[in-house]
Amino acid sequence: MSIATEVDLQALYGRRPRVLVVDDQPANVQALYQVFAADHQVFMATTGAQALGVCEAQHPDLVLLDVEMPGLDGYQVCERLKVDPALRDIPVIFVTAHEDEVAEARALDAGAVDFITKPIKPRIVRARARTHLTLKHQSDLLRQWAYIDGLTVVGNRRLFDDRLAMEWARAVRQRTSLSVVLIDVDHFKRFNDRYGHQAGDDCLRRVAAALKAGLRRPADLLARYGGEEFVCLLPETDATGALALAEQLGRAVRELGIEHTTSDVAAVVTVSLGACTQPAGVVGSAATLLREADAQLYAAKSSGRDQARATSLSAP
Ligand code: GH3
Ligand code: MG
Ligand code: MG
Ligand code: MG
Repeated sequence: MSIATEVDLQALYGRRPRVLVVDDQPANVQALYQVFAADHQVFMATTGAQALGVCEAQHPDLVLLDVEMPGLDGYQVCERLKVDPALRDIPVIFVTAHEDEVAEARALDAGAVDFITKPIKPRIVRARARTHLTLKHQSDLLRQWAYIDGLTVVGNRRLFDDRLAMEWARAVRQRTSLSVVLIDVDHFKRFNDRYGHQAGDDCLRRVAAALKAGLRRPADLLARYGGEEFVCLLPETDATGALALAEQLGRAVRELGIEHTTSDVAAVVTVSLGACTQPAGVVGSAATLLREADAQLYAAKSSGRDQARATSLSAP
C-alpha cells in the first residue's frame, strides 16, 4: 500500500475533495461518477465549454478529462486551464481510449499530470486520483505559506507585489480607482532600544493585527512590506476613501496603547501613513503609485509623524 492510499483525503481537505469528470459520452461520465461518488463531491460536464465553466465557478481539486470530444477537445480545455492564473493549479488527468505514445505525450505537453485509458479500471482511477489530490493539497499549502509573513502572519511582500500587479491591471481594464497606503511605525528603533527586540516583535504583531482588523472590504489587503513597514492595497477606493481609511488605521494603532516612552511623538506607539490613489480612468503605473505613496509617507514623517498624508495621480 502506498503512502498516498493511506492518506485520509477528507481529513486533509477538511471537506470532500471536489472532482470534475468530463466526457461527451454520458455512460463514461456515469462510470467515473460511480468511482468517486461515495467520498468525493463530483461535478460533471459533457462538453469542453461546460468543463471550463465548472472550473471557473467551482474550482475543483482535480479534473478527469476526456480527450476526444466534439467542439473543444480535451487538449484545448487543458491548455486553456493552464494559461489562466486562477485555474492553472488544478491538476488534470486525461482519460482516453487511445493508448499510444503520441497521444500520451501530447496530453502531458498540454499540462496534464497523468493519463488513464478507457475502459477505466475503478481501482486504478481511484489510486491515481488520490495521489494527485494529495499532491494538490500539499502544493496549495506551500503556496499559501509562501505568501505569509512568518512574524506577523499577515501577507508578505511577495503577496503584495503579485496582488498589486493584478489589481493595477484590473483597475486599468475596468476603469476603476485603486489606492495604496504605506504605513511605518514611528521611532521604532528607539522602541527596540528601550524595550528589547522581543518586545519589538510583539509590537509588530499587535500593530499588524490592528491594521488588518481595520480593513473593511474583503478585497482590501494588508501586507508586511518590510521591517516595521506595512502596506494596504485598496481596490475600487478613491482618494477620499483612502485618506479616511489611513486616518482610521493610524487611530487604531494609537488606541492599542502600547507604551513608548522614548518616542517624542506620543507616549504610545504611533504610525505615519502615506496614501496614493490612481483615480478611475487615470492610467499611471503600479510603480508610480508606490513611489508617490512613499513620498507622502516621507512628508508625514517630516511634518511630525503620527499622521496620514495622501495624494492622487493625475492624467498625464
Ligand atoms: P521613523 O519614525 O523615522 O520611521 O524611525 P524608525 O526608528 O522607526 O526608523 P528606522 O528605519 O531608523 O528603524 C527601523 C527599526 O525597525 C530598526 C530595526 O531594527 C527595526 N526592525 C525592523 N524589522 C524588525 C523586526 O522584525 N523586529 C524588530 N523587533 N525590529 C525590527
Ligand atoms: Mg469522447
Ligand atoms: Mg521604516
Ligand atoms: Mg519607522
